[in-house]
Amino acid sequence: MIEIKENTVLHDARIFGPMNEFEHEQVMLCQDKATGLKAIIAIHNTILGPGLGGTRFFNYTSENDALRDVMRLSRGMTYKAAISGLNLGGAKAVIIGDPNQLKSEGLFRRFGRFIENLNGKYITAEDVGTTTRDMEYIRMETKHVVGLPEIKGGGGDPSPVTAYGVFMGMKASAKYLYGSDSLNGKTVAIQGIGKVGFHLVERLHAEGAKIYVSDINDASLQKAASQYNAIVVDGQDLFDLDVDIFAPCAMGAVLNTDTINRLKCSIVAGAANNQLENEDEHGNMIKDKGIIYAPDFLINAGGLINVYSEHTGYNREIAMGQAENIYDTTLEILKMANRQDIHTQKAAILMAENRLRQIKNLKSTL
Ligand code: NAD
Repeated sequence: MIEIKENTVLHDARIFGPMNEFEHEQVMLCQDKATGLKAIIAIHNTILGPGLGGTRFFNYTSENDALRDVMRLSRGMTYKAAISGLNLGGAKAVIIGDPNQLKSEGLFRRFGRFIENLNGKYITAEDVGTTTRDMEYIRMETKHVVGLPEIKGGGGDPSPVTAYGVFMGMKASAKYLYGSDSLNGKTVAIQGIGKVGFHLVERLHAEGAKIYVSDINDASLQKAASQYNAIVVDGQDLFDLDVDIFAPCAMGAVLNTDTINRLKCSIVAGAANNQLENEDEHGNMIKDKGIIYAPDFLINAGGLINVYSEHTGYNREIAMGQAENIYDTTLEILKMANRQDIHTQKAAILMAENRLRQIKNLKSTL
């Protein structure tokens, strides 16, 4: 039996500190020595519904890094679901360790049992370092998992829906700025021709846009060039191009003091998460430069919309229809940001918080 001394401080500031800062409801630490499982499930907010967010499997340099990552990511999920009009809360999980060494059926099934213990308050999905195969193992222990392959009744690869949402955000930004949402003849530079980037190239090509692409993977570039006449640009040169639209579809923090100073585009609209290195500083910097920034967590919500549809009974048409709403919401946010003279990311956060407040009040009166 563990003896707890009278003056022992049970609350550890290293956990309750970030919980307080990010306003989390619940953080669960999971361990299983036999399989090597060490995981954190962070449930940020369940006002709108169960917290949905993927499980990231990553070799974090410290437990503190893992904790901060899961706190930040789960809060982002709350905003993404709220602004997309979904009845979902925000949550996320991280498994700490090298996926190449640790992955096993046992580890994922044990993790699945921890999720099951939460009784549906947390729904998981795949994320960086996890695959649909891993989700199938989790599914053996709990039904609170989405992102399963189509043959298993899931929604399959969400990236076509994500790309469609980004395309909608881009068109809405064009409508706001140019008065027409046609991208015919517009020049678009895409960083990252992966799953989402490639679908975006297809849509833009069909619309008649002139496309520039950069990637660290030559095969993807050659495919985009040969199939869709995309012009290949050397990595960093993409930021200096005199184009209408820049679409970051690779990694986060790509909009920073250096890159924003170099941008010559009039619209930024892409799929990558957390594009602004510092939300307020760089959100304002983009605004002051007169560039229209379509908030990332709004226009890349197609993936979440897709798995939400799986949760309620999968239907790709319904998911695509819901992703189409991103057009109207983007327009609304751009107008709101202009009216209130604030940067667009801030406007999107305020709109998400407003929905959370309204539903919280509504629930308290039921
Ligand atoms: P992906 O891994 O399939 O593609 C990313 C591409 O970026 C790869 O081709 C990679 O080679 C390239 N890349 C990496 N570093 C680069 C660099 N420095 N310069 C140029 N290219 C680089 O990923 P994805 O699923 O297409 O997602 C793209 C982005 O969108 C990610 O940030 C992801 O978090 C975000 N996102 C994806 C989805 C989805 O449904 N897949 C949903 C929401 C957000």
